[in-house]
Amino acid sequence: MPKLEFVCLLGASGSIGCSALDVINQHKGRFSLHSAAAHSNTQKMAEISKEYPNAKLALFDKNSALELQKITGKKVLAGMDGLLELVSDSACDLVINGLTGSVGCEPTLKAIEHGKKVALANKETLVMAGKIIKEALQKNPASQITPVDSEHNAIFQCLAGRGTFEVESLQITASGGPFREWPAEKFSEITLKDALNHPVWSMGKKITIDSASMMNKGLEVIEAHFLFDISYDQIKVVVHPQSIVHSLAQFRDGSMIAQLGTPDMRIPILNAMTFPERLYLDTKRISLPEIQKLTFFEPDFEKFPCLALAYEAGKAGGTRAAVLNAANEVLVNAFLQEKISFMDIPRGIECCLEKIEEQSDVDLEKILLADFLARKAANFYISN
Ligand code: MG
Repeated sequence: MPKLEFVCLLGASGSIGCSALDVINQHKGRFSLHSAAAHSNTQKMAEISKEYPNAKLALFDKNSALELQKITGKKVLAGMDGLLELVSDSACDLVINGLTGSVGCEPTLKAIEHGKKVALANKETLVMAGKIIKEALQKNPASQITPVDSEHNAIFQCLAGRGTFEVESLQITASGGPFREWPAEKFSEITLKDALNHPVWSMGKKITIDSASMMNKGLEVIEAHFLFDISYDQIKVVVHPQSIVHSLAQFRDGSMIAQLGTPDMRIPILNAMTFPERLYLDTKRISLPEIQKLTFFEPDFEKFPCLALAYEAGKAGGTRAAVLNAANEVLVNAFLQEKISFMDIPRGIECCLEKIEEQSDVDLEKILLADFLARKAANFYISN
């Protein structure tokens, strides 16, 4: 019988966190919750603490950590230090990183340095610091990253451990978001409500806006580049509104392998936790005759400039993707607060990329500095 694995869940109160808790509950004999961390949601964390009284707790927001400590009567770790303490705890075997944004980067790196298995949903980790993460993985061979992002987990399943030298291209599917069929001239009228209305996936707010702008797909292209060690020219985006085919690999012999399933994040989460094993999961099965038709389109780079910007930043390397990512995070946040328009997101990012000097030969310090400068430049764009 496989031994019980102790899971540290980062981003426990979010959409990935809730799905991961359900997966853990479906496999209680296999997984146990070692610890849970979130940004500031004390209510959800108190519920988790009730259900898993032995789980250690951390909140990124220090005031919320104090509040949770009062509610639960348990010690609650706080801030980035708290998160890093959880992932480096010797009693934890597997880290699920479901944090949103660049805050997820340092915990991933720390977990790798401590030889942990990391089921990675936080794509910003690889977008910002892909090169550094890869170097850390080489130095710590006991550690391993398995992708949770549905497209990357799909490719991971299609490759099934083969090297990418046999691969001609990876094809990342995109639902196309709510504006796929909108004419370009209507994009200036897009409201927050329109953008939050995702046709297929139910996700956190930040990623829903990224899906609407297709920046999510752009970040996923960069993520795929680092995860699978493949050039940007070999990574294609294909729009597939039904979100049943989660991505594909085209091999050099002409075979194309795809992974299909219900759009349900519990499937890639479980796969990332147990790879190469497959365990039972109670989810809806797809019926092809019921679906009848799957459609595919080329992406529109002109209507969705974020996608083009991400390819460019990825190809340029160095700190460019970290700048793109940080600027996007700040601008999306401003759009969520209705301070800027939807098309200000790509315009603002472009402005930040122009302003901030390129840096090659990156280390974590340079990455964090680029992240800081990009945030400053994005805030300047918003207030002007
Ligand atoms: Mg995805």
